[in-house]
Amino acid sequence: MTDCLFCKIRDREIPGDIVYENNHVLAFNDINSVAPTHILIIPKEHIPTLNDLEENHTQTMGELFLAAKAIASKEGLSDSGYRTIFNCNEDAQQTVFHIHLHLIGGRKMTWPPG
Ligand code: AMP
Ligand code: ZN
Repeated sequence: MTDCLFCKIRDREIPGDIVYENNHVLAFNDINSVAPTHILIIPKEHIPTLNDLEENHTQTMGELFLAAKAIASKEGLSDSGYRTIFNCNEDAQQTVFHIHLHLIGGRKMTWPPG
């Protein structure tokens, strides 16, 4: 995908503040952070939305959550807590159409989300 912002960060065509990487996923700080920790975890494979998931993405999706766990631990959030979010399409305000898991923490959050 030549026109995808997150593919370009993956390919180092545009800079990203990368905090974690393995064969399946890449994680970088959100450019518009909403909390002391706000990290986006993306699959290296371009998948536009959750609606595009297929059976063969099962491992990739698991890798996203294992990365979230590892990063949360590194950030010292495991005990205090954190939130993981996928936004899908317009009502959820998805703006970048390469799926990404928001890892948000470091402050007390409210529920329900806005
Ligand atoms: P979403 O609304 O779920 O699609 O989230 C997209 C996120 O990407 C937002 O939180 C943006 O702040 C973030 N974002 C947009 N451009 C960049 C960028 N170049 N580097 C890091 N994060 C970005
Ligand atoms: Zn992409």
